[in-house]
Amino acid sequence: MTNLVWFRNDLRVQDNSSLLKASKGEKVMGVYCFDTLYFEKGDFGFKKTERFRAKFLIESVRELRENLKKFNIPLFVYVGKSAEHIPKLAKEHQVHKIYLQKEWTRDEVFISDSVKREVGEAVQFEETYDQFLFHPEDIPYREFENIPKVFTEFRKKCEKFSMVRPEVSFEKIFPITNYVENHTKLPSLTDLGLSEPTPDSRSAFPFQGGETQALRRIAHYFWETKKLAYYKKTRNGLVGTDYSSKLSAWLANGSISARSIYWQVKKFEKEVKKNEDTYWLVFELIWRDFFKYVSLKHGPKIFRLKGILDKQYDWQLDQSKLDQWIEGNIPDAFVNANMKELEKTGWMSNRGRQNVASYWAKELEQDWRFGAAYFESMLIDYDVHSNWGNWMYNSGVGNDPRDRKFNTKLQAERYDPNGKFQKHWLQGSLFDQ
Ligand SMILES: Cc1cc2nc3c(=O)[nH]c(=O)nc-3n(C[C@H](O)[C@H](O)[C@H](O)COP(=O)(O)OP(=O)(O)OC[C@H]3O[C@@H](n4cnc5c(N)ncnc54)[C@H](O)[C@@H]3O)c2cc1C
Repeated sequence: MTNLVWFRNDLRVQDNSSLLKASKGEKVMGVYCFDTLYFEKGDFGFKKTERFRAKFLIESVRELRENLKKFNIPLFVYVGKSAEHIPKLAKEHQVHKIYLQKEWTRDEVFISDSVKREVGEAVQFEETYDQFLFHPEDIPYREFENIPKVFTEFRKKCEKFSMVRPEVSFEKIFPITNYVENHTKLPSLTDLGLSEPTPDSRSAFPFQGGETQALRRIAHYFWETKKLAYYKKTRNGLVGTDYSSKLSAWLANGSISARSIYWQVKKFEKEVKKNEDTYWLVFELIWRDFFKYVSLKHGPKIFRLKGILDKQYDWQLDQSKLDQWIEGNIPDAFVNANMKELEKTGWMSNRGRQNVASYWAKELEQDWRFGAAYFESMLIDYDVHSNWGNWMYNSGVGNDPRDRKFNTKLQAERYDPNGKFQKHWLQGSLFDQ
């Protein structure tokens, strides 16, 4: 019996539940499809995936293929419609069962439903939640309906009543005969209709995609430099590679699991240091879980203008303001610098994201979804739940009932007191405004 692992946002070998389950079968194959849906224009006029994340994704799939090969598991790679390629592959190899990570958002469900329809009854599907820190079966809420509105309540209860599951290591080396002929090739950016990003030496995220690269980042940030022990003090930084963990992009496409990071933090706490800073990284991973549970609870509401609060504001949409915000050409140097950074590198710090989102939605009072869609297109670490959840939060239609607005001038004074970050990206041009 042949099992197929359909990789999507779980591009890793270690601590991968679907792979582990599938490996109980006699034969195992993997598949990844660069689905055209993700490279088309979305509802707000931006390509869903731009060049930065696409490049990172290609690198991630390349490493996945190399890592699977060590276990004699082939990875078939396609560009096109998943609903065409995956059923065909399954038929050709008489696949018995397809294993995949369970997703629940619009595009992901559309794609998996279309594959299921094509495949028909002959093949079984097994979907597993594998993207959480606290597994849905382990949280102290029986129904997603009961997930609280407020993060603190969620965090405290999970910390008290839930355990993070141990990592599962993958060790089964299949006989070489499992490594079937596979002529499929990784696409180039051009194949995906995108151009190569110009390298920018100022980038705060000069990293490559893939499971091995994620582990390398942990080795650097935790073990070699011990920067984890200062994380809470530096996490609001703006310049450089090490003010925060920078693990988000690997987490977003599943090159590493949240559980693996958690257990590395625990090891660090045991062997090096345990303090508020080490705790805070876990605290942030719980934020990540929270937004996933919020989207599980509210479904497509996270994409709606009124958000999950069902709150009506007088939203505008002025195309010239959108262009100026995107280009970093508005009368606010701090916002401009952050937007330039995003445009040139696909990265923006958490502090920057909060400020530019607040400026777009609360200062300019523009339809927040355009901002979220632009982020979706550009961010290397785009994660549907974290992006739309944070955007709702900052736009007053999400989990923050206080409806706050950032004072970007004060934020700049506080977080960029010498203007280093602004100079870094504006090189004087707009800085004097
Ligand atoms: C408007 C807006 C949009 C955002 N869009 C995304 C997105 O698409 N993808 C994404 O991963 N994060 C998003 N974030 C959250 C946050 O900005 C990034 O996770 C963080 O900047 C990534 O850097 P890091 O890995 O160094 O984080 P660290 O500070 O080192 O934090 C460790 C991890 O905790 C998680 N985390 C930290 N802050 C948050 C948060 N506010 N919400 C959810 N998870 C968090 C991330 O997985 C992160 O990798 C967004 C925030 C805002 C305000």
